[in-house]
Amino acid sequence: MKKIAVLTSGGDAPGMNAAVRAVVRKAIYDGVEVIGVNRGYAGVIDGDFVKLDKSSVSDIIQRGGTFLRSARCDEFRTKEGRQKAAEQLRKEGVEGLIVIGGDGSFTGAMLLNEETGIRTIGVPATIDNDIACTDDAIGYDTAMNTIIDAISKIRDTASSHERAFVIEAMGRHAGFLTLAAGLAGGAESILVPEMKFDMDKVCENIQAGYEEGKIHSIILVAEGVEMDGQEFTTNRDVNESNAFLIGKEINERTGFETRVSILGHIQRGGSPTGRDRLLASRLGAAAVNAVLSGETNKMVGLIHNKVEVAEIRDAIEGNKEFDEELYELANILSI
Ligand code: ATP
Repeated sequence: MKKIAVLTSGGDAPGMNAAVRAVVRKAIYDGVEVIGVNRGYAGVIDGDFVKLDKSSVSDIIQRGGTFLRSARCDEFRTKEGRQKAAEQLRKEGVEGLIVIGGDGSFTGAMLLNEETGIRTIGVPATIDNDIACTDDAIGYDTAMNTIIDAISKIRDTASSHERAFVIEAMGRHAGFLTLAAGLAGGAESILVPEMKFDMDKVCENIQAGYEEGKIHSIILVAEGVEMDGQEFTTNRDVNESNAFLIGKEINERTGFETRVSILGHIQRGGSPTGRDRLLASRLGAAAVNAVLSGETNKMVGLIHNKVEVAEIRDAIEGNKEFDEELYELANILSI
């Protein structure tokens, strides 16, 4: 194999740059040329390619975001779009494509391979950490630390004013990030999409804490928290998020002054942690190994701290199990 391409796609995650750097440097080490694709699949269709050499990836290991940029591309969801992409890659002489992104990006990579024969290898990068066949995805650790930092700062103001704070973390469908950050950040309650919660219990916790002298309370809520079966006394205003509704309800039921903080996109930004840089470096290099050894339609991941290669379909269709024991532990430790 003489030439491969690399792209970043879907939601950006801190550590994507470190992964691109690892792909480029490992490929050059192995005597293979690397083309960077700007703007994810949109850039493949447009032939927006840039030759990358070892100095193109200097000074990026510490940078958040992705210098190749990312994009959502609807045209790539069509067969015609993927054919166009394959033609562009063939024209450029690219024999293998490394896709750094989440499960949507992996689905695109799988279809591209099945329909056109272009060799594809996925590298998991998403702050949600919801991809099966890997314990960790690139960006998750940095986002977790960003949330923990935010919790600590909010706790300062919560204590000063004796308030309850509902903090909304990213996670429309998965609560891995919220659970990990909530546990490590010492949140009093953690509400996620995977587990039904009991509003009475959340309020009892706040009240019990207050009676025992706790002067603040942190309730960490994932965007897509499971709200089915909840009977709320307050009504949802138009377009009001779950976090605001929960905040209002806590105030109504406990009388505790409540504030809501939506962390939003700061969770995606920032310099990647050492752990994310390490993961990105290992997986980026492993993706090059995989493609050069003839693998295709695969994903590289980390299982029990060992690099493993899995079928990309298993990563897409597999369900990453929510750690109920960890959730239970978080509840126990927040008494
Ligand atoms: P994140 O988990 O951070 O959202 P993601 O990779 O899942 O990342 P998506 O927006 O779902 O992000 O997907 C990124 C791109 O991958 C899409 O814009 C589209 O071009 C391509 N893609 C997603 N789903 C499909 C699909 N079913 N078929 C073909 N291409 C797809």
